[in-house]
Amino acid sequence: MQLVDKAKHKGSRKRLILELQEMGIESPQVLDAMLKVPRHFFLDSSFEEHAYQNKAFPIGTDQTISHPYTVAFQSEVLGIKKGDKILEIGTGSGYQTAVLFHLGADVYSIERQHFLFDKTKLLLSAMRIKAFLHYGDGYEGLPEKALFDKILVTAGAPSIPGKLFNQLNIGGMMIIPIGVGEQIMTLIIKTGDSSYKKVEFDNFNETNFRFVPMLKNKR
Ligand code: SAH
Repeated sequence: MQLVDKAKHKGSRKRLILELQEMGIESPQVLDAMLKVPRHFFLDSSFEEHAYQNKAFPIGTDQTISHPYTVAFQSEVLGIKKGDKILEIGTGSGYQTAVLFHLGADVYSIERQHFLFDKTKLLLSAMRIKAFLHYGDGYEGLPEKALFDKILVTAGAPSIPGKLFNQLNIGGMMIIPIGVGEQIMTLIIKTGDSSYKKVEFDNFNETNFRFVPMLKNKR
């Protein structure tokens, strides 16, 4: 695995950060974390020139690395602080995992595609990014590691997954694109064992970004 971060990559990253700011991302912590993570490490080298364009991209087995804007948006909404215990559903390329790690979070992440799980585990360990990676079904969450302060779902789910809600601390938050086909970016704030507040983000929803579906029961 060749992991080389050259001046041209850093320059492209700076431009990407400016673009994200123009799109409305404000959190200095999020922008700084994204400046630190070489996104081209997460794409095959033949696609390197796409790494700093603000777009999603295939990473194999029909899956995509999230849009940089999506990563920035979901991270910003959760207001991640150092030491937050956070569960990510859909490790995929590991890019979002790396950004969460650089935000100082204690990261747990679940992926259901074995190929991606194996590939990303190697990459993140080569990058010395510490995260608890789990191969399994995100709908189940990680009961043995719960409760979590925050949950970030990177695939589109038809509704709020109940087991994930149960694994959130009271006062905790989950950001999740909800819907089949089209999704609505939704923030769930847990206010009690079975109560929550819901915020839907019109500004994100206007981007019309689509998510791969959060699939059940296949490993
Ligand atoms: N966070 C990733 C985005 C990957 S796309 C990144 O930054 O690259 C969404 C990912 O969710 C895919 O890798 C897909 O395989 C995974 N996924 C879909 N359904 C899932 C489920 N039920 N449990 C865990 N992961 C799932």
